[in-house]
Amino acid sequence: MNPREMLATAVAEARAGLAEGGVPIGAALFTRDGKLLGRGHNRRVQWDDPAIHAETDAFRAAGRQRDYRDTVMVTTLSPCWYCSGLVRQFNIGAVIIGEASNFHGGHDWLAELGVEVAVLDDPDCTAMLGSFIEANPALWHEDIGVAD
Ligand SMILES: [Zn+2]
Repeated sequence: MNPREMLATAVAEARAGLAEGGVPIGAALFTRDGKLLGRGHNRRVQWDDPAIHAETDAFRAAGRQRDYRDTVMVTTLSPCWYCSGLVRQFNIGAVIIGEASNFHGGHDWLAELGVEVAVLDDPDCTAMLGSFIEANPALWHEDIGVAD
């Protein structure tokens, strides 16, 4: 399975989140050979829970794994510090990112630590979140922890 096929699962999650009235960011955890372990999306609004980012939702959906080195976290957006910390903590081996133009998170830091990082510059990811931010600036700032 190529990176864009993996990204399609994360994009589908982001769209599901948007349809629920939430922040449209999706993620999925795969094995390197393309087996889906878990998928999820940001649920800040839906569950009134600031701790459920797309990556943490996918991570939880994957259940307990003994070793994450051969897993790939695929996310529609550059992972924030919280989710970059998750990747670091569990030694997830690779991160595939839809876009990093609406938000530049911790992926440079992860690359420095030896995590394989690919930013796909996907126009659909950029457009979906970009429109959301334009329409919901306060909610977006809340999500990334920026005070008004
Ligand atoms: Zn995050």
